[in-house]
Amino acid sequence: MTLLGSHVGMSGKEMFLGSVKEAVSYGANTLMLYTGAPQNTRRKQIEELRIGEGWEYAAQHGVEEIVVHAPYIINLANTVKPETYELAVTFLEKELKRTAAMKSKVLILHPGSHVNAGAEAGIEQAIKGLNTVLDQNDDDVVIALETMAGKGSEIGRSFQEIRAIYDGVHKRERLRVCLDTCHLNDAGYDLVNRYEEVLREFDEIIGLDQIAVIHVNDSVNPLGSHKDRHANIGSGTIGYETLHRLVHDVRFQAVPKILETPWLCAEGEKKKTIPPYKEEIAWLKAANKGNQGSNGRRGI
Ligand code: FE
Ligand code: FE
Ligand code: ZN
Repeated sequence: MTLLGSHVGMSGKEMFLGSVKEAVSYGANTLMLYTGAPQNTRRKQIEELRIGEGWEYAAQHGVEEIVVHAPYIINLANTVKPETYELAVTFLEKELKRTAAMKSKVLILHPGSHVNAGAEAGIEQAIKGLNTVLDQNDDDVVIALETMAGKGSEIGRSFQEIRAIYDGVHKRERLRVCLDTCHLNDAGYDLVNRYEEVLREFDEIIGLDQIAVIHVNDSVNPLGSHKDRHANIGSGTIGYETLHRLVHDVRFQAVPKILETPWLCAEGEKKKTIPPYKEEIAWLKAANKGNQGSNGRRGI
């Protein structure tokens, strides 16, 4: 069985137990979470996360693996504001500890933004940050660098840029990659018409065995747009067929595949209150296209 799940929340009284329950309610066997709000660095104590209970529930309900996503305000590539870089380093050190405590083996990290210092300077700084953190850390956790759309001054928008980071990191065995299909599309990698070629290129530059997570998202914008807006499965420019192909690609069977598609609005509402994951997971799991997907709840 392929590993397929979604991003889930972690908050309130139940914390991680609630995250696992949410994933199970979607029919998922894996999940991704942020250890707190993705846009800030406030975090609860590890003891308050209800990790043991969450894993107990996971074992009873077939959730096999979890991955953690570092908050996106961490910017290791910043050479312009020393405080931002310092905060990124200290937070990443703690986040690795939290990831290990949560019994996750993978921490996903956006490589960062160079903030007009140029991609080369940004990459150098990200390497420096990763070395600072990894040289003194022995947790059984890998850092998966996410492929980015190239929005603003993001680095990691090409396989070569990710490879350049690998090349500078001492403990390269602690690095992996998180492929995000929306980001790949927006960065100009044509999964729809050049699926095998894109994977071959990735294999030559980094190696398919380095893929630790796949973010399965459709994209609102066309190929090469450098935008990064996720669309629901089948309602974007990538489309169901290509995403279904990736989910069922035997080479990635053991790789957690995580949906980060947008929540939906109820009829006539403006607020997004309906998670799309149960239907999208079922639709993607289906052997053939079927018609469970467009379920009339799409209110966007
Ligand atoms: Fe991400
Ligand atoms: Fe992503
Ligand atoms: Zn994104």
